[in-house]
Amino acid sequence: MEISVRSIRKEFDRYPALHDVSLDIRSGELIALLGPSGSGKTTLLRLIAGLEFPTSGQIFFGMDDASAKSVQERNVGFVFQHYALFKHMTIAENIGFGLSVRPKATRPAAAEIRRRASELLELIQLPGLDKRFPRQLSGGQRQRVALARALAIEPRVLLLDEPFGALDAKVRKDLRRWLRELHDKTKHTTVFVTHDQEEALELADRVVVMSQGKIEQVGTADDIYDRPATPFVFSFIGESSEIPVIVSGGRVSFENTLLGIDAEGTADGPARLFLRPHDLEVVANGGGAISGEVMVVRRAGPVRLIEIEVGAARHRIEIELPADDGEHLSGTVHVRPRRWRLFPAG
Ligand code: ADP
Ligand code: MG
Repeated sequence: MEISVRSIRKEFDRYPALHDVSLDIRSGELIALLGPSGSGKTTLLRLIAGLEFPTSGQIFFGMDDASAKSVQERNVGFVFQHYALFKHMTIAENIGFGLSVRPKATRPAAAEIRRRASELLELIQLPGLDKRFPRQLSGGQRQRVALARALAIEPRVLLLDEPFGALDAKVRKDLRRWLRELHDKTKHTTVFVTHDQEEALELADRVVVMSQGKIEQVGTADDIYDRPATPFVFSFIGESSEIPVIVSGGRVSFENTLLGIDAEGTADGPARLFLRPHDLEVVANGGGAISGEVMVVRRAGPVRLIEIEVGAARHRIEIELPADDGEHLSGTVHVRPRRWRLFPAG
């Protein structure tokens, strides 16, 4: 089911949680909403679900204007961060719950609901746990059951709000891969909310980066990482440094040094030069390079990160070097960006 979010605005007591958000989600796609806390991810998900209604704008499910429809009419499945399994029900009863509360005319027979629950337990790779209770399962297993319960109603769309957020790092990573494999099998149109960039970039077909109730960029992991559309996306994703520069006639200068980089069509005037630690190389002399003083050298797993201070205002730039190369770096160094990104200032 494709979903089209059209010019949505959502206010809570006049406070705009979403401003003019438009987004097309493709049928069968796994899309991640990524952004810091308070950026509007949950609000957008709840609007798609029908748990909230927009102040203005529309939501289409296929050709169908769903804007005023209820959760049941939209037929969506959810999973939230905190296990919402019913403690006093078995795993099979939990999975079958959405079917067992349907009106009599559309409710499957009890034996059929049990059969469906067993089938879903196979799908989520927990076969045979039908008769267990939630307390007998680990946190990761419970979230898989929550997903099976959401799938039991054969939803048109699956909506997941930080479903692995309460689990520890290792379990989260395993579940991330597991969910991707499950999605490749079932192909449900899925919207996955997370504030974890690694999770979003690894899991999703496309990532929607949000900040302050607006969409900053929609793209694949490569688009978001290599071609960030805005300063926010550049600095939110991965490690980055920024220095103020002046663009003039296609040339870029930092304070009084002309940098050996191309202005990439950026208009003349003040600009912001964004750099990533692994896109900076240390060079022998200062010609066209940025010179600075080494302040901090620290080991970060397989690499070494070096912080240098540059310019009169002592901006900090971070460089990444192989652990062996960076170890004894000190004093004045000259660095040259291999890749960079310029945005007009202001
Ligand atoms: P996220 O999920 O990205 O952390 P939310 O969508 O939960 O962000 O919230 C976006 C903004 O809307 C926040 O400033 C939040 O305080 C506000 N907000 C969310 N829900 C409500 C509500 N029911 N009433 C008032 N303000 C809300
Ligand atoms: Mg949220």
